[in-house]
Amino acid sequence: MTPLQFDLSGLAEEAVLALERRLEPAELQHMMAGSAVLTGPLEVQLSVARHGSGASYSGTVAGEWELTCVRCLGPARQRFRATLEGDVPAGAPTLDATEEVRQALHLALPGHARCRADCKGLCPKCGANRNEKLCGCAV
Ligand SMILES: [Zn+2]
Ligand SMILES: [Zn+2]
Repeated sequence: MTPLQFDLSGLAEEAVLALERRLEPAELQHMMAGSAVLTGPLEVQLSVARHGSGASYSGTVAGEWELTCVRCLGPARQRFRATLEGDVPAGAPTLDATEEVRQALHLALPGHARCRADCKGLCPKCGANRNEKLCGCAV
């Protein structure tokens, strides 16, 4: 069992199955790209619906991560929520959403994270973090 494998035996009786899992950041950190660090628990919610011979699911993965601010290179902590969607092969006893969650996390990663909307960045001359002090350079 992976941390994102769900038991689908309930689909034998129910047409729609609501699944929920809360994961510790360490369990999914290996999925993260670049310098992104998961800093809070991840909430995965799935709704699996049986139709015909197979089933499909939709849901969300939400949590918090720390990225690198593109302006000051400091930590940029953000909450995120990404949607999940996929098909379940007919008769599958379990659903492993690992790959789907990995892709959703990568798509949700912002290309240009900022620690705050008005981050002043680093001084191009002396390198001081201008959010913290006025270095006085004429730039
Ligand atoms: Zn910043
Ligand atoms: Zn400066």
